Amino acid sequence: MKFDRHFSRLVAIVLALGGALSACAPAYEPDGRHQLPASSGPVPTDRLMAQFFGVSTILFRDGTKAVMIDGFFSRPEWGELLFHKIAPKQERIDKALQDGQVPDLLALMVIHSHHDHALDSARVAQMKGAVLIGSESTANIAWGEGFGGGVITIRGRETISIDPYTITVFSFPHSPGGVEPFLRGEIKEGLKSPAHSTKYREGGNFSYLIEDRGLRVLVHASANFIPGMYANHPADVVFLSIGQLGQLNPRMAKEYWTEVVERTYAKLVIPIHWDDFTNPLDADKPLTPASVPFDFHNAMERVQVYADKADKKVCWGFMPLFKPVDLQAAVDNCPPSSSP
Ligand SMILES: [Zn+2]
Repeated sequence: MKFDRHFSRLVAIVLALGGALSACAPAYEPDGRHQLPASSGPVPTDRLMAQFFGVSTILFRDGTKAVMIDGFFSRPEWGELLFHKIAPKQERIDKALQDGQVPDLLALMVIHSHHDHALDSARVAQMKGAVLIGSESTANIAWGEGFGGGVITIRGRETISIDPYTITVFSFPHSPGGVEPFLRGEIKEGLKSPAHSTKYREGGNFSYLIEDRGLRVLVHASANFIPGMYANHPADVVFLSIGQLGQLNPRMAKEYWTEVVERTYAKLVIPIHWDDFTNPLDADKPLTPASVPFDFHNAMERVQVYADKADKKVCWGFMPLFKPVDLQAAVDNCPPSSSP
């Protein structure tokens, strides 16, 4: 197909350039102060815990009640994304769910329908008995996959109660740049895998404010915003996409931080969507930062500068892989970024 050929050529050029650049870039190593501690022992039943599985796949659990964002575990390689059709990889899904001891899910909420969010969403929702929450496009992935569970289609501004969680949905544009122009639009009918990665059209982009146990946790997984979108919606913790943060022009990058971090009065920022999503997950290996298609190093420099601002210091830290983090404890123990 002409479209796919153009897309493949563009990404091949981006990859070649990015590969050359990343070969000379030093590896980013966060110091211990910016690694959130995993809680040890059994998962407590009276605390809101979060577990991170790369990109923006995050599990929230509160005793036996759990919800998840995206559920993306297959992580096909660049060669598969460009030149082959992709499909959920059952073995990788099984392994990640097992390594993370993921319980049954009440709901699985999808950010948008690109493959790095939605590829496995219906499969995981089916396996874990979850209601699938997402756009019409995400629903069409589910129908194509033969999903037999419930679907809640969203447009933004909905408040959904799934006891004990209250979930508020926000709609805003996807981050600009990179291959985004090639992946716009909607999935208009059931999409059955295997399918080329360019079939996974965006279909609308969402963030989720999840409230439980007195904590307000915002998952904002694409580097863009609408001014004022979080007015009257404060959050204690923001899981913030830094995927395209390094490439945004300086003014937009600053405004992104202001809208999503400062205007929500977040006490703790957790960077997400920074890892190379073409590498498989491995519980024993740290995630690799992505130089392509993201500028991870520039993104992290910006996070540090913004978080250290004298008048509005904000604490930030990375999640460990797979292991549960007690979010309230992370907020309580996290000093502002520049504190000794
Ligand atoms: Zn995307």
